[in-house]
Amino acid sequence: MKRFIEQVAIVTGAGSGIGRATALRLAQEGAKVVLADWSEDGLQETVSQLPPETACIERKLDVSDEAGVRALVSEANERFGQIDILINNAGISGGSYPPVTENERADWEQILGVNLIGAMLMIKHVAPHMQERKQGAIVNTASVAGIRSGAGGNPYSASKAGVINLTQTAACDLGGFNIRVNAVCPGLVETGMTKPVFDYARANEKEHKLGGRCELRRYGKPEELAAAICFLASDDASYITGQALPVDGGNTASLNMPG
Ligand code: NAD
Repeated sequence: MKRFIEQVAIVTGAGSGIGRATALRLAQEGAKVVLADWSEDGLQETVSQLPPETACIERKLDVSDEAGVRALVSEANERFGQIDILINNAGISGGSYPPVTENERADWEQILGVNLIGAMLMIKHVAPHMQERKQGAIVNTASVAGIRSGAGGNPYSASKAGVINLTQTAACDLGGFNIRVNAVCPGLVETGMTKPVFDYARANEKEHKLGGRCELRRYGKPEELAAAICFLASDDASYITGQALPVDGGNTASLNMPG
């Protein structure tokens, strides 16, 4: 399948996990890729795995820094002359899960700043280039944590619920320009973000429990998220916009009542 020939895709959080797998899939299907991440080492590792013929720009970026976002988007448009796809995937989890009575304002500001405001800033600066050409597809990485509690700390869950709502509002704002905006909601996937969870489970012989609350009885792989993200970014999803697709092995399909 080569769905993205001659298309230009920006991927944030491309230096690891789901973002890396998505960047590789887009490039394998013919896209020119603009890879952004806070981690330069991560970016270099992703670049080393790209098909050799891939046209690529890779840049260190903090998605919560509007000047940096503006500069990256301008550079991408000047170099490639168009932007067809935006994958808003950079994210941080914040790690711990204190109850709301122990939440720190600074943690909320940091997590909302990257996960939600960063996604908004990328859309704000990319969408005008798509509007000019009356075409584009944006896919945001939300989370099952944005649908139900229990899959992340309070600020992380709120940030991902915000990403789902941003997906809907941006789809309304941009639909008249033939720009589609969708989200995926991953369940548990083995990546840099979840490494502590997997390390703990393996050290305590509990790895088999990690997929236990999914109907498919296993956790997900970054490539499975990349497949769903690339579907939503492609013309195969040409009549889908404003939707948040759980890609979670059935985790949100069930109440998971005991017994
Ligand atoms: P990851 O940690 O492997 O990758 C996230 C990448 O984002 C890293 O390369 C990191 O350097 C980058 N990043 C972090 N802050 C950034 C910033 N301010 N600016 C630019 N880049 C930044 O984790 P992942 O699991 O691949 O996460 C990708 C997305 O998937 C995130 O939005 C995450 O919230 C979401 N998600 C992951 C899971 C899971 O189980 N792994 C579940 C639900 C949602």
